[in-house]
Amino acid sequence: MTRINYTGCPLCNSTKLYGFMKIKDYFLSGESFELQKCNSCGFVFTQGHPDKNEIAEYYKSEEYISHSDIRRGLVNKTYHYARQFMLGSKRRLIRKYIGESSGSILDIGSGTGFFLKHMKDHGWKVKAIEPSEEGRAFCKREFSIDAQKPGELFKMEDRSFDAISMWHVLEHVEDMNGYMKKIFSLLKNDGKAFIALPNHLSLDAAMYKDKWAAWDVPRHLWHFTPKTFESLALKHNFKLLKKKSMPLDAVYVSILSEKYRNKPFPLIRGGLIGIVSLIRGLISLNKSSSIIYVLNK
Ligand SMILES: [Zn+2]
Repeated sequence: MTRINYTGCPLCNSTKLYGFMKIKDYFLSGESFELQKCNSCGFVFTQGHPDKNEIAEYYKSEEYISHSDIRRGLVNKTYHYARQFMLGSKRRLIRKYIGESSGSILDIGSGTGFFLKHMKDHGWKVKAIEPSEEGRAFCKREFSIDAQKPGELFKMEDRSFDAISMWHVLEHVEDMNGYMKKIFSLLKNDGKAFIALPNHLSLDAAMYKDKWAAWDVPRHLWHFTPKTFESLALKHNFKLLKKKSMPLDAVYVSILSEKYRNKPFPLIRGGLIGIVSLIRGLISLNKSSSIIYVLNK
């Protein structure tokens, strides 16, 4: 098995790294992975994660709902209702910052394509990048959108898009710095990037500790806080325009975390903790479970 070991911080290159936490993959493999933290910039990442070729094995579950559309079980049902609500709120956010009600958008990690379908229905010109073959096939079959493989991203022409979105995707991408650089050059001069990420300084992360579902090792390689993501954005010449909470994620992540704790009534317990965390995140954004960062060039 090929594992990627970092001797320097992927964000600031410092070699002062230390063991931060050990996290088990409760979702699929049951294997444990070490998170390391950089002593200089505070960035947390999954040390010794499987390489590009082997990581696919860790996504092979029909319950990985980002990549499928299975309406089974209450948790998934809740997720699907929440998604409908989120589609509208993402589009309104993009419209607000682009200043137009339509334009060109690239969604990286488009999954099954529901978001782009929604944007297309509202007059946007859409392009998609998606690593999963099933995701691309679903997107084509259901929505007639031709999602392309990740390699195609680097062949796209500079200054092609008004908006580029990554909804809970950057934390999965091994070439984090390469993607940030490419996104910068793909945006038109007044283009904006919309990047959603979990935040391990949230109340739900503090409650669930090593069982917090959004650690999601080894699928999540990078574990951001508002401070470390802002450093990454700055490193790649972006300016941070706005941070916005994704309130429903606190509830979803808490319910999933309760399942990992193996306690009874995960939906009720997780729902309640999720709501408390949601409110905490609304009071102070940097404690929000998930944050959308709006960046401009
Ligand atoms: Zn660092």
